[in-house]
Amino acid sequence: MRIDKLLSNRGFGSRKEVKSLLKSGAVKIDGVAVKDSSKHVKLDTEIVTVNGEEIVYKEFIYLMLNKPQGVISATDDNMHDTVIDLLEMEDIVYNPFPVGRLDKDTEGLLLLTNDGKLAHQLLSPKKHVPKTYFAVIDGHVTAEDIGEFQKGVTLDDGYVTMPAVLEIISAGLRSEIEVTIKEGKFHQVKRMFEAVGKRVIYLKRMKMGPLPLDETLELGEYRELTAEEVLRLK
Ligand code: URA
Repeated sequence: MRIDKLLSNRGFGSRKEVKSLLKSGAVKIDGVAVKDSSKHVKLDTEIVTVNGEEIVYKEFIYLMLNKPQGVISATDDNMHDTVIDLLEMEDIVYNPFPVGRLDKDTEGLLLLTNDGKLAHQLLSPKKHVPKTYFAVIDGHVTAEDIGEFQKGVTLDDGYVTMPAVLEIISAGLRSEIEVTIKEGKFHQVKRMFEAVGKRVIYLKRMKMGPLPLDETLELGEYRELTAEEVLRLK
């Protein structure tokens, strides 16, 4: 891993700040000052210090991806690109996996981590972690639909959904809505709209639990969560 990447991951500031920290000679690899930000460090054998204090290799990685359409929420797939193909090798080495699934044609917030415990907490059906989606609907979404979603709708397999909050942003032949669900059945949002006779033509996840999508991320881009964001998820 590049030394500048390690330092910014460990909270030593922006790229620029890390560069000047390196220039100051405060950073050492096995006791030797390193000033070149592109220098690679072997995390398993070399000891990195900043002002004499050891920087310890982190165990967990937490990433927020703005998933584009066309990639699969899985770690490998024989036919299609997966969300892992969007990551850089220095993040892939931590073996992150997606926290739940978005359909191939769904965009938006997808968390990836190698922290199985946190992933389990976020996905557990008992925890009812809310997830908010923006959607474009082929059809006129009405106040009646809001009531149906609030009551719970019956899906094609007979399952009755938990109450969901539906908000209409604009209604017409095509409608724009936001919906918050507290469970994660297969194709749930699409099937909920089918249950009220409408079709989702665009779907994007905007929020998972307390975390909104960082809208500065372009489709296909990702970033590490801050320590504060990770705490909010726990
Ligand atoms: N609901 C869906 O129908 N698809 C998704 O990708 C997520 C929620």
